[in-house]
Amino acid sequence: MSAPCCNAHSTVPVEARDVRVSFDGQPVLRGVTFTVPHGQLVALIGPNGSGKTTLLRCLLGLQKVSAGEIKLFGQSDLQKVMHRVGYVPQRLALDRSFVLSVREFLALRLRKTNNWFWQSHKRTDELIRATLAEIGVEPLFDRPLAQLSGGQLQRVLIAFSLLTKPELLLLDEPTAGVDTPGEETFYELIAHIQKQYHLTVILVSHDLSMVYRHASHVFALNGVICCEGTPEQVLNADSLKQAYGIHVSPYEHHHHVH
Ligand code: ADP
Repeated sequence: MSAPCCNAHSTVPVEARDVRVSFDGQPVLRGVTFTVPHGQLVALIGPNGSGKTTLLRCLLGLQKVSAGEIKLFGQSDLQKVMHRVGYVPQRLALDRSFVLSVREFLALRLRKTNNWFWQSHKRTDELIRATLAEIGVEPLFDRPLAQLSGGQLQRVLIAFSLLTKPELLLLDEPTAGVDTPGEETFYELIAHIQKQYHLTVILVSHDLSMVYRHASHVFALNGVICCEGTPEQVLNADSLKQAYGIHVSPYEHHHHVH
């Protein structure tokens, strides 16, 4: 997957070459090179402090790189293609007195699109309802945002990112325990959305069993991309030791015989 695609160059969603970032003279990204082709659900794994969030921030144009180059859809001026990118943060710290309802919050997202002025309230509401329904949370439409559970808020943030119909979705894994038992898990939801919307997805994740089940490709980061490949290739003891620097138990894939 590192091999750059040479024909449909401008359609490659993500190309990063030798990306370097330092904070206070401490290198955090030490030459990150990777390519993500269209339509993949890739997982970005690595120990705490390995630079995963910093790398996502670079892709979003929020963090300046000190060397190297990032192109999204073949464009190195990232602001020009940001309308094609959605981002779901790990969490959103909300004060309980925050007054907007889910509907009002999501409508803010649509105001930023060029045709907002011409869209009726009815059309806006239809689009919001349809997106919430796609994610299985339509009943939250009129609920105050500040009263949602962690899992519900995470789903509303996903809806927020999907409203503008992105082609590339970047997600920071939500904190553990946001899924309610019996509900579709966060990972199943992302895999469903990725197929439904034909998205390219980069997902920062700590849950190696979920990566094993849902990712098509895995990048292990530790300042550099220290290994990459299919989940089967990356999630084994040697690769993980290389990525994490210490011995960790690999995820063992058991085939259940019924
Ligand atoms: P990860 O997401 O893999 O846990 P981060 O990208 O959040 O790692 O952080 C990588 C390292 O960079 C950490 O040591 C963190 O303290 C440092 N860091 C991240 N952002 C900043 C910043 N804005 N200023 C200074 N140091 C930072």
